[in-house]
Amino acid sequence: MSDPRRTKVLIIGSGPAGYTAGVYASRAMLNPILVQGIEPGGQLTTTTEVENWPGDTEVQGPDLMVRMEAHAKAMGCEIIGDIITSIDFSKRPFVCQSDSGTEYVADAIILATGARAKWLGLPSEEKFKGFGVSACATCDGFFYRGQEIAVIGGGNTAVEEALFLTNFASKVTLIHRRDELRAEKILQDRLFKNEKIEPLWFHELDEVLGDDTPLGVTGIRVKHTDTGETRDIPVKGVFVAIGHAPANELVKDVLETHMGGYVVTKPDSTETSVPGVFAAGDLTDHKYRQAVTSAGMGCMAALEAERFLAEAD
Ligand SMILES: Cc1cc2nc3c(=O)[nH]c(=O)nc-3n(C[C@H](O)[C@H](O)[C@H](O)COP(=O)(O)OP(=O)(O)OC[C@H]3O[C@@H](n4cnc5c(N)ncnc54)[C@H](O)[C@@H]3O)c2cc1C
Repeated sequence: MSDPRRTKVLIIGSGPAGYTAGVYASRAMLNPILVQGIEPGGQLTTTTEVENWPGDTEVQGPDLMVRMEAHAKAMGCEIIGDIITSIDFSKRPFVCQSDSGTEYVADAIILATGARAKWLGLPSEEKFKGFGVSACATCDGFFYRGQEIAVIGGGNTAVEEALFLTNFASKVTLIHRRDELRAEKILQDRLFKNEKIEPLWFHELDEVLGDDTPLGVTGIRVKHTDTGETRDIPVKGVFVAIGHAPANELVKDVLETHMGGYVVTKPDSTETSVPGVFAAGDLTDHKYRQAVTSAGMGCMAALEAERFLAEAD
């Protein structure tokens, strides 16, 4: 086993929150170590065009994350390809075990492990992800101006996404397995009043239909949940809106969570229920889930870690 790695600040996660924390913590001379996890660069590496990152009218998600990594590195952040497997929160410094067998010992920790959209698991959904299949209306709705699209789901996420998408789409078909929605009543009222949205009850997505060259969605095949009968609906985009799951495996038994597992932070802060442990990005954010908000929280976490360490010393 290698020697333990000692650091003032350990940043766990390499999405916009983690890399931004890396930039700020490095500039505060905290010599941070950032552990990248299984998905270096985070969720944006799984998409193509990003059009809402300030300063870039359009940028490819993977390119943006390569630049963020280079930025953090240039400021002095040590970036390590490893996965944290457990954290001992019982005393400071915190001791973290990792997949490589290296032990990381840190005076403060910034958790930036992100979240995952839940997917249905269909092969055709996987094939067209980023090419007509999305799980983020805020990110991708703009690409469907004047087009017909489908939203899959019946909870708050689905209804919110469907309502938001009517700003762009000419028609939104909401596909739901039952004949009533789980979403809050106020959202349901808005949905039923919106003439652009047509619910299709007792149906589930069977297959995403599309072309190979260029890769793109042309429709969906839906199946009746009772009869099994299928039918095809022409759409240009499919938004899978069955919820998100924060990547909270490391902390869910220790830190306070809410809204389905998101880590609770103090108001206007990234402080968690354990002093010296800060959380940033989608791991804490059930509301906005954007790169820019995650980066903002990464900045806050690094500044707060700096203050915490200055007061603790
Ligand atoms: C397909 C898609 C398209 C999107 N498009 C846009 C867009 O256009 N604009 C926009 O603003 N947002 C977009 N988003 C949302 C955006 O990607 C997220 O809001 C943002 O990436 C969240 O950043 P984060 O730093 O919190 O975490 P993530 O990007 O989720 O990164 C989490 C990081 O934590 C690491 N990690 C997890 N567990 C461990 C562990 N145990 N040890 C070490 N590391 C760990 C992972 O490897 C990963 O690097 C999109 C998301 C998706 C999925």
